[in-house]
Amino acid sequence: MKNNTKLRGWLNDFNLDHPLVIAGPCSAETETQVLQIAHELKNSDVSIFRAGIWKPRTRPGNFEGVGSIGLKWLQKVKEETGLLITTEVANANHVKLALDHDVDVLWIGARSTVSPFIVQEIADALENTDKIVLLKNPVNPDLSLWYGGIERLYTANIKKIGVIHRGFSTYTKTKFRNNPEWQIPIELQSRFPDLPLICDPSHICGRRDIIQEISQKALNLNFDGLMIETHNAPDTAWSDAAQQITPKNLIKLMNDLVIRNESLRESSFINELENLRVKIDDADSQILDILGNRMKVSDEIGKIKKKQNVAILQSSRWKDILEKMISGGKEKGLSEQFILKIFKAIHQESINHQENILKN
Ligand code: PEP
Ligand code: MN
Repeated sequence: MKNNTKLRGWLNDFNLDHPLVIAGPCSAETETQVLQIAHELKNSDVSIFRAGIWKPRTRPGNFEGVGSIGLKWLQKVKEETGLLITTEVANANHVKLALDHDVDVLWIGARSTVSPFIVQEIADALENTDKIVLLKNPVNPDLSLWYGGIERLYTANIKKIGVIHRGFSTYTKTKFRNNPEWQIPIELQSRFPDLPLICDPSHICGRRDIIQEISQKALNLNFDGLMIETHNAPDTAWSDAAQQITPKNLIKLMNDLVIRNESLRESSFINELENLRVKIDDADSQILDILGNRMKVSDEIGKIKKKQNVAILQSSRWKDILEKMISGGKEKGLSEQFILKIFKAIHQESINHQENILKN
């Protein structure tokens, strides 16, 4: 597959002077809930109403979606509000049911994108379709798997394709539910500048207080749209309660976003600078995560030392660490002076942590 301006055709057809907005609850819960949210979003920047009908849950026993009855509620949303409708499909049967109920946009979830079998099954079921099909990134940070999914759709002659960036799973905890790893969608965007790219800040953040910030960042990186989970009573939502926002707050969020004009968006200097800044920000936040995790390990060591009544400072061990870091640093072009400064500061922080543990 090659970049081609036709890839943007379906997005251009919306004729918007703002980013494309997809909003609605994580899950359809009841007909009343679905319709209430949709009516509150009717006269806003939202073009497409989302609701999960079949919910892929990490653990069994959680709410797994209302099933196909929810498709009737979505059809009612379209009739009553004129919004287009979208839901997640994860197999050929979902596709059939969604098409039978005239769902306009189908999205493939992160847990499906990891499986070439599933993506192929969905691509086959959608062969030659005129519907819009959006592919979320796989849960693991693997660009070629994401790209492979796009190719499968493209090869099935699906003409209206877009991608959704929803962040990536990590083993260590960060402030995000799914780490954005912005360099991955940026790389995809540089290969396919015309492939519509949508950000899902809800699943990146996992918490509503940083959705605005991440939405703005996505727009600064030239994303074409946002998918934001929106619920009439977010705190009591049956899934993803912590990350959903009310329709009123979604409208405020959209109003507060700074949308850059086209000439600025096309300036390659600004793009390059912004992309590099993203890499620096990513690296800095990784440094913080690593330092935080290192101090946690220090705390554990402090607890053991306390129990065994061992002195905090063990200078031979410290000397070994420094030597190793100086030679490792050299290989990466970092001066001895810099390594000494950094590791002395880290070491001092560890000692402070362990002293606190001994005191308490
Ligand atoms: C969702 O959009 O509700 C969802 C399940 O998303 P993801 O596939 O990104 O986890
Ligand atoms: Mn969700």
